[in-house]
Amino acid sequence: MVSTGVSADATVATSADRLRDTYIWVMADHDALLTRSFELAVEARANGDHPFGALLAVNGEIVAEAVNRVNTGPDVTAHAETELVRILERDGKLGQLPDGIVYASCEPCPMCVGAMFWAGARRVVYGLSAERLIEVATAPGAVPIGFTITAGDIGRTASPLLEFDGPQREDEAAEAHAGFWY
Ligand SMILES: [Zn+2]
Repeated sequence: MVSTGVSADATVATSADRLRDTYIWVMADHDALLTRSFELAVEARANGDHPFGALLAVNGEIVAEAVNRVNTGPDVTAHAETELVRILERDGKLGQLPDGIVYASCEPCPMCVGAMFWAGARRVVYGLSAERLIEVATAPGAVPIGFTITAGDIGRTASPLLEFDGPQREDEAAEAHAGFWY
């Protein structure tokens, strides 16, 4: 080991500080990336589409972003996460998916879970839960539309494993949906 001229205790303290700083940085970055997915959801709504957004980040750097395009695009399956896969493939960046984290404004539906899995995704962080989405999207007395199986449940059956981390900051994530569905 190269002598740094500081005591062993100081070295340990420095390492601990670095670890803490790295931890704080990672957490802060993670939060910002999830916030960005919420912003994309708002953007999708402003475009005239459903309020969902998703992005891929590798080592905290955004590689690609996507918004829902089911109304303004030619494809009713253009959910944000499936769009993200298509954008990554179009731009020759699909190879980065296994090394990154997908941040989604809402828990991905089974179609998007499948698309992300087959494209190589291994980890997804999301805001709003599908259960809460159904709550906010269903008018009183109307029949709820959506799936009751969770993305996590599907991911746990995947090989290799597709991990989901959510719901997170649901109140914030729900803001993009306020007054949208009915
Ligand atoms: Zn979907």
